[in-house]
Amino acid sequence: MDACVLASRAAVDRIRRALALDRRVIEPRTVEGAPVWTATNGEGALAWSTAAPLAGVKGWLVPPREPVLAWDDTGAMRPVVPCPERVAFVGLRACDLAAIAHLDAHFGSDPWYRARRAAAFLVGLDCSGACAGGFCLEVDAGPFARAPFDLNLTALPDGRVVVAWGSAAGVAALHGAGVASTPVDDGTALLLAELAAGAAASFPVRPYVARGLARMNAAPAGGAIADEEWQAVGPRCLACTGCTSLCPTCTCFTVVDEPVGAGGTRARIWDSCLLEGFQRQASGHHPAPRPGDRVRRFWYHKLSRDFAGPTGRLGCVGCGRCDVACPGTIGALGVLAALGGER
Ligand code: SF4
Ligand code: SF4
Repeated sequence: MDACVLASRAAVDRIRRALALDRRVIEPRTVEGAPVWTATNGEGALAWSTAAPLAGVKGWLVPPREPVLAWDDTGAMRPVVPCPERVAFVGLRACDLAAIAHLDAHFGSDPWYRARRAAAFLVGLDCSGACAGGFCLEVDAGPFARAPFDLNLTALPDGRVVVAWGSAAGVAALHGAGVASTPVDDGTALLLAELAAGAAASFPVRPYVARGLARMNAAPAGGAIADEEWQAVGPRCLACTGCTSLCPTCTCFTVVDEPVGAGGTRARIWDSCLLEGFQRQASGHHPAPRPGDRVRRFWYHKLSRDFAGPTGRLGCVGCGRCDVACPGTIGALGVLAALGGER
């Protein structure tokens, strides 16, 4: 294991404080009883056992409203180039790292996204067991990191930490904090493998997830699932957009012009494919006129390999946020249970 070192929890805190010298350090902290991504600037100790916040970090990388162009009273337009603050997210769970990899692939060379992403330093934190409602294991997104990071932390039961690096910036952060390069010995490597296996074994047995995914991915696309099944769940969607707002891989946006005097700004804002107007075309044609059509489209984008993209992973990273958000019980596990014959 030549891309990681053994460190103490105190050494991890030194890394956090070193990162805070030229970045805002943002970590999960419990606020009014719930975990929230919070600017800590590295003070205190890392809250190792704080659960993943319900709202992820998508809003930093893809703000809900982002100015992209501006025009003045001559009509001349210019791009609005973001100048994002440098941040370090410390404690990203494996599903959130996989989601950021999905965003990286989706936005590609988008200059606004690239600027924000280049300003972000990612520190992952492996999960020692299944979280409530998470199914990252079944979609190859966790519970140990499966996607790129700058640094990644695995807490060992004896209080030590395996710190892996995944970028030159990660190596520089280790050096900057003066973390001694204690190599991971064979015994610790074996312990790591046992911890990973134990974390995987802690997930509930949910055979309906595999059955549902198999039906979503049976050829021809969609052929295994009757239209009636989607139309049965469609009316349960209230078009509240809770799922698409919280989903760390949802990327749909629209653009709005906001005139101010003789000038103005063009902004892109989050949109949702579950809203009736999202796909309606200028001609009046609507390719997904019924709620069930929109629910079907949404879930194919999440659970079909047709939309896996260059990472090879599904558009769903199994974080379970949509199951928490959906008042109609048609989050990911709810849909997979229905498709997999669980209810
Ligand atoms: S679809 Fe649901 S479970 Fe999957 S990544 Fe999005 S919020 Fe998480
Ligand atoms: S959270 Fe549920 S009800 Fe709300 S838009 Fe998503 S699927 Fe529809």
